Amino acid sequence: MKCDCLMIHYGELSTKGENRKSFISCLTRNCRAALKGTDCVLSGRRDHLYVELNLTSEQEAVNRLSKVAGIQRISPVYKVDKGIESLKAEAIAAMKESGKHRFKVSCHRPDKSYPLSSYDVCCALGDAVLDSVEGSEVDLHDHEVNLKVSIREDAAYLSTKTYPGLGGYPLGMAGKVTLLLSGGIDSPVACYKLLRRGIKVDCLHFAAPPYTSGQVIYKLIDILKELLPYQADFRLDVFPFTKIQEEIYKHAPEPYCITIMRRMMLRIAERVAKARGSLSIATGEDVGQVASQTLDSIYAINEVTSFPVLRPLCVEDKVDVIDLAKKINTFDISIRPYEDCCTIFKPKRPKTKPDLAHCKEFEVRFDFASLIEEGLKGIKTIYVSLDGVREEEPRQ
Ligand code: ATP
Ligand code: MG
Repeated sequence: MKCDCLMIHYGELSTKGENRKSFISCLTRNCRAALKGTDCVLSGRRDHLYVELNLTSEQEAVNRLSKVAGIQRISPVYKVDKGIESLKAEAIAAMKESGKHRFKVSCHRPDKSYPLSSYDVCCALGDAVLDSVEGSEVDLHDHEVNLKVSIREDAAYLSTKTYPGLGGYPLGMAGKVTLLLSGGIDSPVACYKLLRRGIKVDCLHFAAPPYTSGQVIYKLIDILKELLPYQADFRLDVFPFTKIQEEIYKHAPEPYCITIMRRMMLRIAERVAKARGSLSIATGEDVGQVASQTLDSIYAINEVTSFPVLRPLCVEDKVDVIDLAKKINTFDISIRPYEDCCTIFKPKRPKTKPDLAHCKEFEVRFDFASLIEEGLKGIKTIYVSLDGVREEEPRQ
């Protein structure tokens, strides 16, 4: 017996009252995009989405859908005749196929005209399995198989297993952010967390050649390719940061350089975010992880902008971030040895409690505003999508 359909259940979004309609149509669009190129046919039902697998394997479809934000769980289902005798036969066959013995039956009955109550159906199927599957026993609390039956208008649907979905909200429902993507371990994980919440992500990277290798860009592209199952296309803006960084190191004492560099990054990020229609900036900062990420430092850095700055990892443990990076396959790419501008210019004794007045005093020693304008004109844009990678040179 082979499952020929999947039921996609949405969790959190079903609580969203008036937004429900647009949530569902957004989720439907995203599922359809995720299944592109397969033989699956997707349709919307009252309280779930329904996928006919046709020639596509269950694993292939589940694998793709498990990366679509907004899905709570995915159940492979057998579509069967609603008659109680045929339901019993299918239940026995499904139990035999599972090879397991401790089971329970649960019934959901959207078709209110069905002659038997949910309780009657559970009893009938439970008895049938007990009679026909040797060694089987009912265990409501510690079962190996939950035999679920859903009796609907058109047919009954039987399932014995459920795959967890990604949870969160459908991508695109919650607007867009501009994420500062460094190529380290943290910012790709921050990206994943944002996408999972349904927030679209555009990326911004600060490149400082020749101090940093051009290889960093390939690393970023590879990271974004790993994230494509969660968002089908990324925009990556690469800001030429070398001049600004050189000026900072010429004019500010070494322990302050990293704070000032971050202040410049946020100023630039705000400009880029506004130009691209983003509603926030996001970073992979994690409070306390390094000197530039103490609360004092974040206070001094954040002072340059009134634009919202999201820090999805701000209170995560590094081990959890690493686990997640491994799960989304970005870890091995992130630890490739190419240096980031922050590593190269890292002060020996960075200030953990930078003084705001000092930051301002050092910054006015050079004309950073003009350098920012010049840099904005030199941004190179890279598009990473399922169709490939495309570069756009600056429009100077
Ligand atoms: P990551 O692993 O994301 O690089 P990190 O722990 O190495 O983080 P930092 O290097 O201090 O921490 O950077 C903190 C955050 O600042 C990064 O997560 C990223 O959002 C941003 N950032 C740092 N360097 C760059 C860069 N060159 N381009 C874009 N964003 C950057
Ligand atoms: Mg870094």
